[in-house]
Amino acid sequence: MLTRRRFIQAGLTVALGSILTGYGGYRLSASLQGTREALAALRASRTPLALLEGYREFRGVIHAHTRLSHDSHGTPAEILSAASDAKLNFLVTTDHYTPDIFTEGMQGLQENVVVTRGVEAPLGCTRDRGLGRRCGAVLAFGLRDPFNPDAFGRGKPLFDAIHDQGALAIIAHPRGAPDAAYFEWADGMEIYDIADIMRDRLVEVPRYLLDFLLAHAEYQDELFVSIVERLNWHLRQWDRLTRMRRFVGIAGNDAHQNLAIFGLHVDPYPLIFRALNTHIVVPTETSEALVILDPPLSEGRLLAALRAGRVFSSFNLLADASGFHFVARRGDAGQILGVIGDQVGMQEGTVLIVRSPVPGELVLLRDGFPVSRTVGRSLSYAVDRPGVYRVEVSLRVMDRWRPWIFANPIYVRG
Ligand SMILES: [Zn+2]
Repeated sequence: MLTRRRFIQAGLTVALGSILTGYGGYRLSASLQGTREALAALRASRTPLALLEGYREFRGVIHAHTRLSHDSHGTPAEILSAASDAKLNFLVTTDHYTPDIFTEGMQGLQENVVVTRGVEAPLGCTRDRGLGRRCGAVLAFGLRDPFNPDAFGRGKPLFDAIHDQGALAIIAHPRGAPDAAYFEWADGMEIYDIADIMRDRLVEVPRYLLDFLLAHAEYQDELFVSIVERLNWHLRQWDRLTRMRRFVGIAGNDAHQNLAIFGLHVDPYPLIFRALNTHIVVPTETSEALVILDPPLSEGRLLAALRAGRVFSSFNLLADASGFHFVARRGDAGQILGVIGDQVGMQEGTVLIVRSPVPGELVLLRDGFPVSRTVGRSLSYAVDRPGVYRVEVSLRVMDRWRPWIFANPIYVRG
């Protein structure tokens, strides 16, 4: 938003002035080079995993703004070029509302990327002044017809109107959503939002701002990795909601390419698209002749996977997470009973299995609490009671575990 941007720019200029005066003989943090070496080692330790039988995986980005938003100038050409460089299979655009979204917005297969257009509609704020401004929104995508959120206010009729169009309603910037009821009406929430984090770090951590100014050309990726943190509030809220029903957790890129400090772009599309990806798991299909079909990704399959919570999010700047899986099987190597997002009945012999292409810290949580933790490439856990089971994977980068993968739950019902 324009006002927010202006606040940020003003704040940053003041902050920078005080840092440069205070630091005197500043030297670039050695940790950026260390991070680079640690990431190279992680990538070298990656072993591709066999595809999960019966499923395919696709990679994309959710929550991107284009020039149709008042706060972005991104053209289709530069967005598609960044999407292709990041090897995306899909992109969900969520511009701030303008009727042009439905006449000029990208939609359908664009080059090799399936694009679904949507709208980001404001829900009000929990703090609406200054640099710490926090305002919630709902992302509506998968809309059949042109949709003007302003016609429905900010209450339940807005969510009903989204659902009437067969679309998904995902709460963005959830800490800013001023009414708990929004979460009851929505299908899911952002468990991460890059724009929120970048803004907070730039404003609150002078060291990051200075590193950015001095090292951004050489260490763009490492600077990004240095701000990746687990968002405890978001994850607690998500765990609270999944205990009641399926509630999809999505990491939002919130790409604008609009935040610049002294002319340097902090959030260029190519970086933001590579930094964080949404991976979806799509079942293969079987023809009448019992031949396994590998259909290409379509908007319909994309939306079905998102709705079903067959989603994991990954900070792929650390390492490529494709091939990761979390499944429920009958016994260690038996039939698949369910994948992420699925509900499975509690039965004897159910084992939850996690496989990671890179060795890391694998944590299995039940109803928000860790029940199993291991360092390595795989974890298996004999289920002894119903619950909402989800997985986080972190990777060791220098002296710290950095969050890497957040997988949606498997819901084991009694
Ligand atoms: Zn946005």
